[in-house]
Amino acid sequence: MSSRARVIVMNSALGPLDYRVPQGMHVEPGSIVVAPLGPRQLLGVAWEQDRLKSEHVGDNRLRNLLGVADVPPLPGPLRRLVEWTADYYLAPLAAVLRMTMPSSSALEGTKLIVEYRATGHVPERLTPQRAQALERIGDRQGLVRELATIADVSDGVIRGLVKAGAIEGVEVDLDSPFPEPDPDYGAPVLSENQSYAGGILQASVAAGAFEPFLLDGVTGSGKTEVYLEAVAEAIRRGQQALILLPEIALTEPFLKRFHARFGVEPVAWHSGLRSSQRRRAWRGIASGQAKVTVGARSALFLPYANLSVIVVDEAHETSFKQEDGVHYHARDVAVMRGRFEGCPVILASATPAIETRAQVEAGRYRELKLPGRYGAAQMPAIEAIDLLAEPPPKGRWIAPRLVKAIDATLERGEQALLFLNRRGYAPLTLCRTCGHRFQCPNCTAWMVEHRLIHRLSCHHCGHAYPTPKACPECKDEDSLVACGPGVERIADEVTALYPDAKVAIVTSDTIWSPAKAAEFVGRMEAGHIDIVVGTQLVTKGYHFPNLTLVGVIDADLGLEGGDLRAAERTFQQIMQVAGRAGRGAKPGTVLIQTHAPGARVIEALVSGDAESFYAAETENRRDAEAPPFGRFAAIVVSSEDKGEAEATARTIGRTAPQVDGMHVFGPAPAPLAMLRGRHRFRLLVHATRSLDVQDIIRDWLGALDWGAKVRVAVDVDPYNF
Ligand code: ADP
Ligand code: ZN
Repeated sequence: MSSRARVIVMNSALGPLDYRVPQGMHVEPGSIVVAPLGPRQLLGVAWEQDRLKSEHVGDNRLRNLLGVADVPPLPGPLRRLVEWTADYYLAPLAAVLRMTMPSSSALEGTKLIVEYRATGHVPERLTPQRAQALERIGDRQGLVRELATIADVSDGVIRGLVKAGAIEGVEVDLDSPFPEPDPDYGAPVLSENQSYAGGILQASVAAGAFEPFLLDGVTGSGKTEVYLEAVAEAIRRGQQALILLPEIALTEPFLKRFHARFGVEPVAWHSGLRSSQRRRAWRGIASGQAKVTVGARSALFLPYANLSVIVVDEAHETSFKQEDGVHYHARDVAVMRGRFEGCPVILASATPAIETRAQVEAGRYRELKLPGRYGAAQMPAIEAIDLLAEPPPKGRWIAPRLVKAIDATLERGEQALLFLNRRGYAPLTLCRTCGHRFQCPNCTAWMVEHRLIHRLSCHHCGHAYPTPKACPECKDEDSLVACGPGVERIADEVTALYPDAKVAIVTSDTIWSPAKAAEFVGRMEAGHIDIVVGTQLVTKGYHFPNLTLVGVIDADLGLEGGDLRAAERTFQQIMQVAGRAGRGAKPGTVLIQTHAPGARVIEALVSGDAESFYAAETENRRDAEAPPFGRFAAIVVSSEDKGEAEATARTIGRTAPQVDGMHVFGPAPAPLAMLRGRHRFRLLVHATRSLDVQDIIRDWLGALDWGAKVRVAVDVDPYNF
């Protein structure tokens, strides 16, 4: 009599499979196992048999499991989260499970690995490649492969340098424990409001039950200090805490702040980690040794042994929505994880999403408010500049009133931030002679000029080439003109106006790693920057007391496209960037350039009347039965063959089930009609809240077949509607 295990095999499209557990092998739900599949050996996770169906296979036809990883089984709450995520977002279980184990090296039994670093010895034979490698590696340490990547050379070059004595191997203990945070290390004296909110959160952590909170307070009101009280409580109890941040560039300043509060750095989890760091973090989290994890949305699916609080900072941020692979919204998944773990979930935001506010109104989330900025800091004064009444000079983008404000700011020795959510120099290049426009061959998008690196680049697929000197169409030279501004062009304008000012451009092109972000923060704090020109990357999290002026170059940018979220998104973005001004003792000013000073969102920003703005937006949504009053799901059909994509989309549309309370719009070309060489058509399913729209879509699409080249992706609760 042998025992059976039901296993979800990763990297396989098949459903759960049954295996025989050989004598002497211990397998329980959550065990990570090695399973044979055809000629391959794949990782899988054993599951409760009664929770998953599998095709029945007789005992005599079962294949043996080949091994069990020497790590704790994936905990029950995480298994429930995996099931829920797969079910809710219509994703394969195996695909969701893969997010819990982002690296198979986490499972290897070795305790020591060898990493490599430069010795300082310069080899006799110093080829240009070797010189480049040594220069780029600097004092970094890593596996041969990682060093080769950093240096942009082949593995062979690195190995050659090892032989020549210029690089040496060092043993690294991969299981060394993380230092323990001290909950009382740098505890601040809280204001009355902070300590009231902090006390409620601590009590909730101590109670150890699911409780969702909205921590709502203007930028600089001290929300971070408040939720860190909940984290301190978790540490005191020997339990774990998870803090999600919207952007990996934010982790670096956050790690510093955490250090000041708790005496050590937390565990960081983001896509920039080396595989050995990833392994150490994963194991520390799984064993319960690592107490606090700070990370991007992917940290949500890690196997915490005893999680007792989850924080989603800047919870309204759109980057919490994952748009490829498994489409999920980390804010919503965080709440579900809290439910399964039985712990509080804190959504912190100065501009909570309408969906989150609705949860508060319905009594499902508890709201904690911080009324004003912490200490002496005041909210900045916000004014609009009507670009029709006070236009900038021809060919420029900064209006005279904003120029004056920058003058005054520099005069006082303070810093200014100009915000434009557009990377590069110009969003469109065209030929003055023949009208040719440079378009991406793979996407429905213009090629964006990046003048600093002399290239045109597609922001959707990465296609890029050197900026041409002549028009490819009419061959005319010097006929190409840049249309519209990007941050680089604004930086040029600023430099022309203030030749002596130190100007920094902050976008994902210049701040591509946490280390780069740290460098930027250092330069700002030291006063080595006078004017920052940046995209949404600078709008979040940063605290620069000497930054007193914020100029919004084009407030109308986010209102284009005109989907139902446009005004809310604009409000959030501008409030967020406004929140960078005047965070210290000096008062801040915000100037918003717009062609529509009468638009409701601009009036709300200027008057500071967020409540009426939100009330009106909420009414709009209610009228349209848009979320949170109704639901959407997008079905995106794509193929390299346009006809095939369109035909499949039409078939899907034609076979839509007739259900009361459900309506299918489209198919129509998707918002990006072509992306990475694939033509895309979209159907938008609208349903009342009471319908189980996932179930309907599962049955509907499950009954259809399409060609191997066609991809059909479902996005439940899509961001754009
Ligand atoms: P938010 O997260 O709401 O934007 P922060 O928590 O970043 O606000 O607080 C804004 C600034 O005020 C930070 O520099 C923070 O260190 C400081 N601060 C907040 N609360 C306190 C406190 N109780 N004691 C000292 N400084 C505080
Ligand atoms: Zn492209």
